[in-house]
Amino acid sequence: MAKLSIRDIEVSGKSVLMRVDFNVPLNDAGEITDDTRIVAALPSIKHLLDGGAKLTLCSHMGRPAGKPEAKYSLRPVGQRLAELLGTPVAFADDTIGDHAKTLRSTLAPGHACLLENTRFDSREKANDSEFAKALAGNAEIFVNDAFGTAHRAHASTEGVTHHISQSAMGFLIVAELEFLQGKLETPAKPFLAIMGGKKVSDKIQVIKAMMDKADEFIIGGAMAYTFLKAQGYKTGMSLVEDEFIPLAKEILESAKQKGIKFHLPADTRITQDFSNDAETRVTAQYSEGGEIPDDWEGIDIGDVAIKDFCKVVEGAGTILWNGPMGVFEMDNFAAGTIALAEAVAKADALTIVGGGDSVTAANKFCNSSDFDFLSTGGGASLELLEGKQLPGVAA
Ligand code: AMP
Repeated sequence: MAKLSIRDIEVSGKSVLMRVDFNVPLNDAGEITDDTRIVAALPSIKHLLDGGAKLTLCSHMGRPAGKPEAKYSLRPVGQRLAELLGTPVAFADDTIGDHAKTLRSTLAPGHACLLENTRFDSREKANDSEFAKALAGNAEIFVNDAFGTAHRAHASTEGVTHHISQSAMGFLIVAELEFLQGKLETPAKPFLAIMGGKKVSDKIQVIKAMMDKADEFIIGGAMAYTFLKAQGYKTGMSLVEDEFIPLAKEILESAKQKGIKFHLPADTRITQDFSNDAETRVTAQYSEGGEIPDDWEGIDIGDVAIKDFCKVVEGAGTILWNGPMGVFEMDNFAAGTIALAEAVAKADALTIVGGGDSVTAANKFCNSSDFDFLSTGGGASLELLEGKQLPGVAA
């Protein structure tokens, strides 16, 4: 079913509730250290204010224990938002209490207020219908622009839609669906999926689901060791999720049958010490008898793997990249991720970076403008790629 976007709705003089993702990092002094998410929400906010909406914004921030905690207050976010917009943004000291009600009922068209952290009430995550009804309040329209939480059925992402007659997506969710769904329906070929990071349990089902669409896979990061062990190689102290070895075997077999090229690292950079100045070595190639010794741990792809993978990237028509090739947070374990990020950035392909750590790496090692799309959702983008319905989008 086609979904409404904020381009399709008339908001002049109407009360609008918009769920945004203002889950920004703060330092110990309570200052915002990265306002990317606030900046990203500006197009939808400006569109609604320019259209004459009476706009109430809500979001969660951090992980408060279902009750107010001063360090997770959205007040500094409201201040930064007002600076960025160049207009005052009223801040409600509560989420559904008297202050919020008063501010919402007295908003003039073209003005905005921000509610206090939705997770200051345990009923938010429980998707409690009384809480959702109070959060919906006087809103005539609900807009969701928080892709990063759209895979959770919480009161502010799903519950409120039962109490507001019209719902629509903001520009950020429109873009996420356009790139992670629309453009991947008929991708320019070959379609290459690069999967890395460490949580096999999170990503192996995504790999399985994407085998219907992708022509080639690159597997890097700690993910690779579960696949290498499934092929019978020794992986030493490296991270392996043993319970997924049967599924890894099934995927490797099915790739062979379907003619999907499944690229695993030919060699691995290893260490005995998980620290920034640790000694590292590269194994011999697995095809030539290489292995990870018992008391060594894989922390990056090896030199041959880097060359192989970059060549595969060069030939791709569409690239989806999710997950680093190694422990890129430490300089001496980052070479594989840097090389891959640079290769993807340079590639003559549609390039989509699938959220979480790969976006951090893309921004750290390249310019974000070198990629066609950087997803704002880690878990949400994986669930979308897996073919799951996101409650916050379905609603
Ligand atoms: P994920 O959350 O699954 O995307 O994993 C991202 C994390 O995987 C990053 O913090 C990386 O440091 C980590 N990672 C990548 N490769 C390895 C590896 N070979 N061993 C341990 N951790 C890794």
